Amino acid sequence: MNRRQFLKQASLAMAASAAGGRLDARQQKPQKRIAFGGMQIECSTYGGGLSRMEDFTVRRGKELPGLPYFHFLQAYPHPFMPTLFATAVPGAPVERKTYEALKSEFLGRVKDLLPLDGLYLPMHGAMYVEGMLDAEGDWISSARRVVGDRCLITASYDLHGNISRRVIDNLDMLSAFRTAPHIDREETHKRACDMLVQSLGDGTRPTVVWAPIPVLMPGERSSTLYEPAKRLWAQLPALNGREGVMDVSLLVGYVWADEPRATAAAVVTGTAVGTLRDIARSLAQQYWDARAEFSFGVPTGTLTEIIGRAQKLETRPVVISDSGDNPTGGGTGDRADALAELLRLKVGDVVVAGIADRPATEACYKAGVGKDLPLKVGGTLDPTRSKPVDVSAKVVFLAQADQPAERQAVVQVEGVTLVLTARRRPFHRVEDFTSLGLDPKRFKIVVVKAGYLVPEIEAIANPNLMALTDGSVNQDIENLPSRYRVPTYPWVKDLRWEPMTLVGKR
Ligand SMILES: [Zn+2]
Repeated sequence: MNRRQFLKQASLAMAASAAGGRLDARQQKPQKRIAFGGMQIECSTYGGGLSRMEDFTVRRGKELPGLPYFHFLQAYPHPFMPTLFATAVPGAPVERKTYEALKSEFLGRVKDLLPLDGLYLPMHGAMYVEGMLDAEGDWISSARRVVGDRCLITASYDLHGNISRRVIDNLDMLSAFRTAPHIDREETHKRACDMLVQSLGDGTRPTVVWAPIPVLMPGERSSTLYEPAKRLWAQLPALNGREGVMDVSLLVGYVWADEPRATAAAVVTGTAVGTLRDIARSLAQQYWDARAEFSFGVPTGTLTEIIGRAQKLETRPVVISDSGDNPTGGGTGDRADALAELLRLKVGDVVVAGIADRPATEACYKAGVGKDLPLKVGGTLDPTRSKPVDVSAKVVFLAQADQPAERQAVVQVEGVTLVLTARRRPFHRVEDFTSLGLDPKRFKIVVVKAGYLVPEIEAIANPNLMALTDGSVNQDIENLPSRYRVPTYPWVKDLRWEPMTLVGKR
């Protein structure tokens, strides 16, 4: 017997003796055995390349409870036992080998903790694994096979996650974000775990009801800051308060993954199945009725139009979203289209943050601050879909970085201040700029690879304009090719549909 098996057996023996009277002091109820862990990424199938092991941050065992992300778990009367948690910046589909390795390690760690009363899966919902449709369905059903039917499984989801029959049939409860931009992560994770702890406490077995909605919108047309999403999502807390209802979730789904499960959905968890069905049906109908209303909350146009519009404005900084190459939506983040257009139009007083280009970043570090050098910028991650731009650059700043992947260089190319990064990353916070010696408010134009802006950049945007640029998260969704999509609005404009609810098989 190895040490781990010994400790497990010892703890099982203690649990057995707990039945004879050893109680948790806080609740005066026997403690439950709950494990947690999962895998989060959002993958576009419209770009090149694969997300590999080196693209994931993988945390294991004792590393997990210390993460701020999981601090909320400490408030529960039962200890949540860590397994594995893998996260990555949204991007290309996951390499099959990487997925299988992470899944098998996760399942092995879950197995080591058996028997379990509960399992919490913090997922995203829009993972795409090469050669596989419905990756979360695979992950969740695999976890179910390991923990068995008696164990309660709860999941938290991003509101851009996709649901499937397999997901619903293997979960006992689910809760998704209610805001986009996402500012309710912790509340959502808490809702998912509150349901689990409550059910384990009172012995209820919730039911999950799903109403798929054949509508698919990009996040940029379904922000909860704007109508119709604002009013659709605003009603969820009140519905959640109804008798026998534990959670009400409404999901936009993820448009840049070509799979049959990619649609919007209402998912309701609770014990009063009739009420759950009524709520799911009503939300699905309302979403369907609003389908033609979804629109961008900010002015949009081609790159040329948007740059021209920004130049005419008296205000600053005008923040331009380079929306087709947004790494937080699954874009590659290596495209130089905006840089090329700014140089062609001879625009000055502008910062472009940033372009993921490791060779160009390395070249800047080799040259050093103050040096001039020729650079080829862009198209290094997905050379088949975009072209590099040849520029003559002066290195103005090099970030201190322990790892080569963390390197960032600021260069001046004519009137454009350009940030080059070794890895794909968003510029979501003012500090992302100031840490590179840049004050975004000082520039007339700030170009970021983003869709809708996160609150911190939104707060300085004066105003925000969205360029409908090319890339793997192109907003021109009506022209996205598809092999697997089920008949869905807006691809099928005259679709006839009536809401239908499906009850999970738990
Ligand atoms: Zn999201």
